[in-house]
Amino acid sequence: MVISKIIMEKVITLSKDIYQKVIAEGENNLPYEACGLIAGYHHQVTSFWPLQNQLNSSTRFFVHKQKVIETVKCIENRKEQVLAVFHTHPSTKPVPSPYDLSHHPDDQVGMVIVSYKYSLPQIKWYQIKNKIYKECTIIIN
Ligand SMILES: [Zn+2]
Repeated sequence: MVISKIIMEKVITLSKDIYQKVIAEGENNLPYEACGLIAGYHHQVTSFWPLQNQLNSSTRFFVHKQKVIETVKCIENRKEQVLAVFHTHPSTKPVPSPYDLSHHPDDQVGMVIVSYKYSLPQIKWYQIKNKIYKECTIIIN
């Protein structure tokens, strides 16, 4: 049963080092939302690109388009792909909001949400298709 579940779900591998950077970035931006891009090859994360949330908001994030384009260019120059858009939920569950789903830029790219609602931060990785989300499995090693 467990094996068939793993085959059906998308499994993402994340190093402990990058995981800790992602969690710290979110923590450093509290009480506001943090955001950024997560890059890698196929299902393996290899780099994290924090972006400054220009809204200073605890419920929304925004980054100028030019800044995003520059960051994507840096990622592509390293022969990596953008795997996910990351943002935090400072005080709500790590579940995509209707706003998150309607503003997700590209269904080829995942959505990573880190929640600080509980004493231990929770990280979730979602695949988005036609504004419907599906959770992926994250392996931290
Ligand atoms: Zn959100």
